[in-house]
Amino acid sequence: MSENIDVSALFGEDVFDDTVMRERLPKKIYKELRKTIDEGKEMESMVAEVVAEVMKDWAIEKGATHYTHWFQPLTGVTAEKHDSFISAPGADGRVLMEFSGKELIKGEPDASSFPSGGLRATFEARGYTAWDCTSPAFVRHDAAGGTLCIPTAFCSYTGESLDKKTPLLRSMEAVNTQALRLIRLFGNTTSKKVTPSAGPEQEYFLVDREKYLQRKDLIYTGRTLFGAMPPKGQELDDHYYGAIRTRVAKFMREVNKELWRLGVAAKTQHNEVAPAQHELAPIYATVNVAVDNNQLVMETLKKVAERQGLTCLLHEKPFAGVNGSGKHNNWSLVTDDGINLVDPGKTPHENVQFLLVMSCIIKAIDVHADLLRESAADVGNDHRLGANEAPPAIISVYLGDQLQDVMDQLIYTGMATSSIKGEVLDTGVKTIPDIRKDATDRNRTSPFAFTGNKFEFRMVGSSDSIASPNTVLNTIVAEAFAEACDEIEKSDNMEECVHDLIKKYLTEHQRVVFNGNGYSQEWVDEAKRRGLPNLPSMVDAIPALVTDKSIKLFGKFGIYTEAELRSRAEIQYEAYAKAINIEARTMIDIAAKTLIPSVVRYSGVLADTVNSIKAAGSDTTVAKEMLDDVIRLVTEAKSALTKLIQVTDEGVAMEQGRDQAVFYKDEVNKAMNDLRRPIDELETIMDKDYWPMPSYGDLLFEV
Ligand code: ADP
Ligand code: MG
Repeated sequence: MSENIDVSALFGEDVFDDTVMRERLPKKIYKELRKTIDEGKEMESMVAEVVAEVMKDWAIEKGATHYTHWFQPLTGVTAEKHDSFISAPGADGRVLMEFSGKELIKGEPDASSFPSGGLRATFEARGYTAWDCTSPAFVRHDAAGGTLCIPTAFCSYTGESLDKKTPLLRSMEAVNTQALRLIRLFGNTTSKKVTPSAGPEQEYFLVDREKYLQRKDLIYTGRTLFGAMPPKGQELDDHYYGAIRTRVAKFMREVNKELWRLGVAAKTQHNEVAPAQHELAPIYATVNVAVDNNQLVMETLKKVAERQGLTCLLHEKPFAGVNGSGKHNNWSLVTDDGINLVDPGKTPHENVQFLLVMSCIIKAIDVHADLLRESAADVGNDHRLGANEAPPAIISVYLGDQLQDVMDQLIYTGMATSSIKGEVLDTGVKTIPDIRKDATDRNRTSPFAFTGNKFEFRMVGSSDSIASPNTVLNTIVAEAFAEACDEIEKSDNMEECVHDLIKKYLTEHQRVVFNGNGYSQEWVDEAKRRGLPNLPSMVDAIPALVTDKSIKLFGKFGIYTEAELRSRAEIQYEAYAKAINIEARTMIDIAAKTLIPSVVRYSGVLADTVNSIKAAGSDTTVAKEMLDDVIRLVTEAKSALTKLIQVTDEGVAMEQGRDQAVFYKDEVNKAMNDLRRPIDELETIMDKDYWPMPSYGDLLFEV
């Protein structure tokens, strides 16, 4: 048995949170800092000085020797550069531990090697990190000792954002302003702030580290580039919610402990659909904190796995043939005094504000479906979207029966007079009490589902940051709110105006609402008839960033300038081509140096076997057939390898940009598939002793 842990004592132990601030900061300074955090008031340098001093002492008590500005460049992962607290040694040869207000609020990493998509010439490599005081600092413990991590935003010398955090913070302000405007019109004079919240459910795979280290494809690309399906996959559904094996349970316990110490409210854990696949969900938080916390979740999963002889795979599709991994982004808008704007209450038909909010969201999703799709694009996610397990690359909204019924009444009769109530669910078992069903059922196939008091955006990839999807959600909803408020403020009959707006938005945008099976081919055809965009690949989705519509939207709310959008599109094209190039090079390396040589050696053994059978005067038919099959497939593999080398060389030689990305998507991917096919078939017929890598079966079922 493992030792008991006191979760409430452990929780947030390493976080410079409100309790620590209140205890340790002088009262006046604490109040000032709270004003900055809660109301966005500018921070005075004196406040920063005092906070820095107190934060340093606290961090040193926690064992920190270094501090870092923790930021999220456009690579999608976090970046950090560590500085120790020590000052220059004095005349007595001793050092002091120092940390100034300036060091707290501003950092200056050499930014020249982070992607900037042309925003920053190399001669102007300056980039600044700026403290995001709305996400708490924390001390992280690892092999490097204790490090005080200060969440920051990352900008260029001229103020353009070079990260995922800055636009997110800007979008939070935008939606706050417009949502406040809207609820004021409905008579709310007390709420001071509206904040988007997010709760990301994180899926991942766990494999044995020894086996992982024998797979160059996993090491270099995070996914398997070869591998035949084992006799058993996920068809029995016996892994989903199944009992958690000891080794995995031990891992989860350690992950929870680390996350709790860092103030991440890890809440739910279970086995997922695919063998070796699991999920972790925290309790939802303010969206910028949720973004930071999700980065910590991903880091912690990887770190703890490594310590326990495991490897955590965050790739969206580590194994062909079984489910991939995503991240369900649950999103809602909540006021500082606890009112959830997307909570329908008991009778949604009466809740006019709720209905207006919902119609605005539906409109926003329809108008900007392409942008929302783009926000979930990453290279690995291309394998998932549209495949049979994940929402297709078409954006639609699921409302559920109750809300759909109210919407229909509004569209067709202009009035909603009733709400369907949740019925009693009779289990038919006397000892089990009847339970009240939710009025909204769950639809697992919708990419954007209303789940009672929140929306669940299910397209996001498991390895991706949730910053971009939330930036887009906040901004498009801010725009829809702004447009509604413009109308209402102009009108002299508010009731009538709101009613007409709801009806208009619902009627004009009902094409994006779909309550059926989102995984079916019928839906793909139907969506096409409705004129909804279907953007299967990341490369297809990138242009959404730089349409006039997008430039206008993000410009209006000061989220991205046109230059920032163009740079982001460039970065995406480059990222795509580079990732596929690494995959192709890895395949070439493995096929040329490991797999094909093994197969050739094996064919030699078979040939010798044929000869010795013949010498013994026995029937060589079976041995010969085996040899022929192997030779046929390895010949096919060899010519596919030659072709892959050729197209990859062509791709590398191209100028970076859209054309190159398209080339990688079409030509290089095809050549990769053509090489994989004969090799996977070889794996199914060859003597296992001659196969030089762990198989899917070894990886998926022997954790
Ligand atoms: P499921 O998706 O299986 O229904 P839950 O309802 O428990 O799971 O929630 C999944 C995630 O959604 C959790 O991270 C949870 O904290 C989060 N969540 C719940 N309510 C909200 C809300 N109002 N806004 C944002 N996220 C929420
Ligand atoms: Mg969910």
